Parts: sequence; C-alpha cells; structure tokens
Amino acid sequence: MNLARPLQALPHDQLGRPLRDLRLSVIDACNFRCGYCMPADRIPDDHGLDSAGRLSFDQIEALVRGFAAVGVHKLRLTGGEPLLRKRLPELVARLARIPGIDDLALTTNGSLLAAQARALREAGLHRITVSLDAIDPAVFRAMSGGRGEIAAVLDGIAAAEAAGFTALKINCVVQRGANEDQVLPLLEHFRGSGHVVRFIEYMDVGTCNGWSSEEVVSSAQLRDRIAARWPLRALQSRYRGEVAERYAFEDGAGELGFVSSVSAPFCGDCHRARVSADGRIYTCLFAGDGHDLKPALEQGEAALAAHVAALWSRREDRYSEIRGNPLAPRKHIEMYLIGG
Ligand code: SAM
Ligand code: SF4
Ligand code: SF4
Repeated sequence: MNLARPLQALPHDQLGRPLRDLRLSVIDACNFRCGYCMPADRIPDDHGLDSAGRLSFDQIEALVRGFAAVGVHKLRLTGGEPLLRKRLPELVARLARIPGIDDLALTTNGSLLAAQARALREAGLHRITVSLDAIDPAVFRAMSGGRGEIAAVLDGIAAAEAAGFTALKINCVVQRGANEDQVLPLLEHFRGSGHVVRFIEYMDVGTCNGWSSEEVVSSAQLRDRIAARWPLRALQSRYRGEVAERYAFEDGAGELGFVSSVSAPFCGDCHRARVSADGRIYTCLFAGDGHDLKPALEQGEAALAAHVAALWSRREDRYSEIRGNPLAPRKHIEMYLIGG
C-alpha cells in the first residue's frame, strides 16, 4: 500500500484545520545559548548531548512516512541545532525519497553550515533558513550567548549559495534593548542578494527566557522604521497559511518579511505539528505537554498514521489568539525542544 495516498479522508482538527506541515527536531542540543531560547545561566553546557533518548534514523523515516500518509507534505528539520546531529545528510537523503514530501527544509544557526552545505544539497535538501540576529560581530556574539561568530555564519551562507541553494530565508528575532539596532544593518547587508530577511516577533515560548511583552518590538513598528529608509510595497501571500507578511523594496532590491505571532496571530491557518527529538508530538508551539509517539511507532507506520490522525482530530489549540486570557495555558514547552 502506498501510505502517501490514503484511502480515507485526511484528518481535520476541531477548528477544521488539516495537518500539512511537520517540524521535526533531530537533536535537543545546541552550540549556542541565545538568551530568548536557551539562556546560558539556565541551561547547562552539556544539555542534550546524551543521544540515548533520540529517535534513530529508522524511526524518523517511519515517522515521516506515517505523517505523509495523513497529509503532511512540508517537512522542516530543526533542533536544538540540527547540524550537530551526526550524519544528517544521510537522514536527509532518506527523507527526500519519501512519497508525498514535496518540500524538505532545514532551520539552522548556520555556524556549522560551511562544511555541510554541499552534502545536504546532494542529499536532496530543498531549502535552508538561517537564524541570524545581528551583523555586527559583538552584538552577534552577545545574542548567541557568547558562543557564535558571525564570520562562520556568513561562510555558511556563502557555502550554501555555492552548493546551489537560492533565496535563503534569514530569520532575525528582534528583542528590544538587545538587537534592535541591527535591523537596518542586516537589511543593508542582504538587500540585493536574493535572500529574504524576515523579522520575527519575540515570543513567550518556553519559560526559561523570562519573556516580557516590553521586549517585543512589533512588526508594525519595524515596518515603519524600515520604510522610512527604503520605501516598501506589500506583496500578496503566496498560499493560505503563509506565516510571514511579505514586502518588496520599491527600488527592486528584493523582498523582506515579518512574522507577527504576538501582534497578529495566525492560528486559524495553523496546519503544523511539531515532534521533539525524543519522539513526542506537540500540536502547538505553546503546548505544555506532548504525546509520546514511540509506542505507536513500534507498531509500524500505518499504526503511527492512525494514532496521529486521532490526536490531530482532537486538536483545539489557538494559544496566540487567547494569549492574556486567564484560561490560556501557562506551562509551555521550551523552543529548543521543538525547534520553532
Ligand atoms: N538552532 C536552530 C536555529 O536557531 O535556527 C534551529 C532551532 S531554533 C529553536 C528555531 C528558531 O526559533 C530560530 O529561528 C530562533 O530564532 C527561533 N526562536 C527561538 N526562541 C524564540 C523566541 N522566544 N521567540 C521567537 N523566536 C524564537
Ligand atoms: Fe540554539 Fe537555535 Fe535556540 Fe539559538 S535559537 S539557542 S541557535 S536552538
Ligand atoms: Fe499554531 Fe499554536 Fe502558534 Fe496558534 S499559537 S499559530 S495554534 S502553533
């Protein structure tokens, strides 16, 4: 049976949303300690380095086949830092062959990309997003918790270009008082390169980052600031559920985007599930608890698919729309465990 072509109707959740998109963490360790995600004073240096609890490549492949059978066609590999997972290109090659997965992407901090970009391309990876919060070396280093060097990330981006990746997404989380002054320099650097810088509102994910709404810089504020320097024109979204609002530079120097999950929630179009490196599914970025998929996975991909369909059918998450409501869940899974 071809599991990518299901015989029965694909599941919809309680709010009528299908499951289209899977974000899969391949590791919960990271070589950075970004303050908004994994602050160095809260997360020990050796966090996540024990590989025993991680899904194996065989398990990941079966899991993705099961998700493809219930409608997932977009797959993004993430972490922690996914490039720390040994033999990642080998895994990419296995996942790229799965029927139904027509978009295979990776989100990385880029620090280890220079050495791996070509192998990832040859393995069949389609797209890369690089997280990059500053272009100034000192600010970049501070944003990474004192671990990262901007030169290594820029080398990684150059290697990705040389390997044939085009139109990279460059994601920047803007945190008031930390890297606001990097917004225009980042655009100055990438304008005209064909890559798309996207500014992400700082979110109240997890609990260890000590988030405060005062540290959020809204997309509207940023857009006005940017437009005062380079006039912008709004672009149509390309498909329903596209998370970034897109703009073009009027002078033809390309595109930029804003992801506004705090100021303009998009739960109504959220078709995404997340799976942690130890095989737990989270149906919302702000979920407190996940469900362990390993027992179903042990019974094979068809059993996994049926289990996921049942879980998805019960889903009613819409945290960003009810943020601030006393009924909104307060316990949130950490971002570095489910990868953004
Ligand atoms: N380590 C990889 C990286 O940084 O690209 C992949 C995992 S990281 C958790 C994925 C994305 O989540 C990054 O783009 C990061 O900036 C974003 N992120 C982490 N914490 C965040 C927060 N509190 N608010 C908004 N985005 C956040
Ligand atoms: Fe690591 Fe990415 Fe989190 Fe930064 S955002 S600490 S690079 S997982
Ligand atoms: Fe999706 Fe949850 Fe984010 Fe809403 S808050 S868009 S349901 S992940």
